[in-house]
Amino acid sequence: MKACYSMDEIYDVAIIGAGVIGCNVARQLSRYKIKVCLMEKQPDVAMGASSANSGIVHAGYDAEPGSLKARLNVRGNELMDRVASELDIPFKRTGSLVLAFSPEDMEKIKILYERGLKNGVQGMEILDASQVQEKEPNVSQETIGALYAPGAGIVCPYELTIGAAESAVENGVDLFLECEVKAINITASPAGLPRDKYPPQDESPIFNITTSKGVFTARYIINCAGLYADSIASMTGDNSFSISPRKGEYILFDKIEGGLVNSVIFQTPTRMGKGILVTPTVDGNLLIGPTAVDTGDKNDTSTTREGLQQVMTEALKSVPGIDRRYVISSFAGIRAVPSTGDFIIGESRAMQKFVNVAGIESPGLTAAPAIAEYVEEVLRKSGLELVPKENFNPLRRPVKRFRNMGERELAGLIKENPLYGRIVCRCEKVSAAEIVDAIRRPAGARTLDGIKRRTRAGMGRCQGGFCTPRVNEILSRELGIPYDKVVKSGENSWMLAGRTK
Ligand SMILES: Cc1cc2nc3c(=O)[nH]c(=O)nc-3n(C[C@H](O)[C@H](O)[C@H](O)COP(=O)(O)OP(=O)(O)OC[C@H]3O[C@@H](n4cnc5c(N)ncnc54)[C@H](O)[C@@H]3O)c2cc1C
Repeated sequence: MKACYSMDEIYDVAIIGAGVIGCNVARQLSRYKIKVCLMEKQPDVAMGASSANSGIVHAGYDAEPGSLKARLNVRGNELMDRVASELDIPFKRTGSLVLAFSPEDMEKIKILYERGLKNGVQGMEILDASQVQEKEPNVSQETIGALYAPGAGIVCPYELTIGAAESAVENGVDLFLECEVKAINITASPAGLPRDKYPPQDESPIFNITTSKGVFTARYIINCAGLYADSIASMTGDNSFSISPRKGEYILFDKIEGGLVNSVIFQTPTRMGKGILVTPTVDGNLLIGPTAVDTGDKNDTSTTREGLQQVMTEALKSVPGIDRRYVISSFAGIRAVPSTGDFIIGESRAMQKFVNVAGIESPGLTAAPAIAEYVEEVLRKSGLELVPKENFNPLRRPVKRFRNMGERELAGLIKENPLYGRIVCRCEKVSAAEIVDAIRRPAGARTLDGIKRRTRAGMGRCQGGFCTPRVNEILSRELGIPYDKVVKSGENSWMLAGRTK
């Protein structure tokens, strides 16, 4: 991870925004002999919509046939097995069910089925009530049928993002964190560079990108700024779209509830989205949500009493046995809803060599690897020469996790590194060695939430009640900063005010 930037460097491609889209695009481009940088305003990757969503790998029957969403959803779903295995992240093809409670719902399900066929979704079936009960004994007895899609699955959204970021950095991408893009200027020569240092290859514009870490120079920009993609585009005079925030609130349950359903349980979609779902997570919890409320505030990730009540009431309609005593957390994510109705991916009409990857609402997580492939094609068409690197390594170094190891394997590992035998998070069985590794890896953690997302320390039943001070200690030691300067998630989010004794 780069802390500073030398004015002599000219990037071929600068990517703005390190969510799941920016990180997957960066990884895709790291296959080629070009200089790429990835700029993120937050102190970590995966801090926007990519950290707070349902984690579903959608089958692809939802999107309008012929749309970019439909095409990239189906392709992303196809790619997910390979990507998850290369990045060593958990991915399960659980299948999904869209439940029908009325004849009107059955009609909607038939429409989804037809749409799925047009989009190229494989293996779908319309099930009757008894077939649904056979697959999912805990869904409501009021269910009269369902659309079954065996290809749907679940993935951890931030692991997909972090894995892609690590792989990109390992393959040569420069990652700049706490690097907020504030302005973009188009010039014939890069800022601060003597003319002889920069022999332009063609007459195309060169971008000078003013950030909180200085001015960067790049031949191409890829705008993956999520909710703020419209503001970034308008810095180059592109006002062709706007992005509106739509909040989704969730409730997360303890692993005791994780086995209540085997697959992703949807209700029929509405104009606002896919409705409230009930799903196991890849880590064995149960997740219900999200709401869909246009808030007008791109920063509002608060949860509300009304929102959570709505989530609970609607989820109980699908799975009546959910036990609210086992709630361990609630959170909200914000969808980036585009004014155009579809993903906006392509070279801007207002500015050559400026590529928008905007309005990536659901199924953006599913589509991320396919979007990365698509962006590569956009760049090729725009004239960027992409020569493959001989030494590109698609495999991320595997993460050793105490909780996934057998006794023998563990014993060997503890002999090599005793920190694997020191458990820091008891709920999720996370060892001190895993926390140290999460900090030392490429694109490593710098905050408590960064550790949480990489290792699950603090994600369990006690939500960090026991392990937070220990994790704080390790962060302080590894980063060489005072104990009371460790932050939760970013600027000023200190956990401690100072010493009492
Ligand atoms: C409630 C909800 C549920 C969802 N469920 C699913 C699902 O189940 N399956 C699915 O496939 N998809 C789902 N999605 C969609 C999916 O989460 C998104 O499509 C995806 O996360 C978008 O990724 P992104 O990288 O475009 O955006 P983000 O993750 O928001 O990343 C954008 C990044 O840009 C950075 N940035 C912004 N401005 C600047 C700047 N000026 N300078 C530098 N950096 C900047 C931000 O800090 C941020 O990190 C869901 C989304 C939501 C909100």
